[in-house]
Amino acid sequence: MREDIEKVIVSQGEIQEAVARLGKEIQTDYVGKVPIFICILKGAVVFMTDLIRAYDAPAEIEFMDVSSYGDAFESSGEVRILKDLDIPVNGRDLIIVEDIIDTGRTLEALIKLLKTRGASSIKICSFLDKPARRLINVHVDYTGVLVPDEFLVGYGLDYKNQYRNLPYVGVLKPIIYS
Ligand code: 5GP
Ligand code: MG
Ligand code: MG
Repeated sequence: MREDIEKVIVSQGEIQEAVARLGKEIQTDYVGKVPIFICILKGAVVFMTDLIRAYDAPAEIEFMDVSSYGDAFESSGEVRILKDLDIPVNGRDLIIVEDIIDTGRTLEALIKLLKTRGASSIKICSFLDKPARRLINVHVDYTGVLVPDEFLVGYGLDYKNQYRNLPYVGVLKPIIYS
């Protein structure tokens, strides 16, 4: 374990289990369909690459980068599109792939936007869920792991754009923030 990590919250083994379960669950729900997995950059990229390989059926992948004007620790209510989808999504079945749902603001704004583009269905798959922090009641269709109200890094999640490459999810030592 790296010296700046205080503790591990979701281990590599738990990640593998959660991803395998989600892949199968989604597969069962989309038999006969070709969903589009939409990865929300950059946080969801690590989860996305594992998830699509746990989903053993026809699918497409897309990437979107949205910025919710916030600080390093949380999002605000406004969402700005930094990188949009490459294709139209009218009539398509979308699965939004997120790293973590916290207040719910980012997802609420995204769902609203994708609905206006005429998707035939929109579901949410979030690797982590921090229910204690929810401000907006967004329905998460597929959840990997419930986590406590702490600032997490690893498996895609960053602090100042670092730590995304940790193969587990953990909490940084307080000294890192000072
Ligand atoms: P929401 O809009 O639901 O409040 O926040 C979602 C976004 O906030 C996530 O996609 C992520 O970028 C960021 N976020 C929320 N909680 C954490 C956390 O514990 N660690 C990190 N690194 N980012 C977080
Ligand atoms: Mg995210
Ligand atoms: Mg971040």
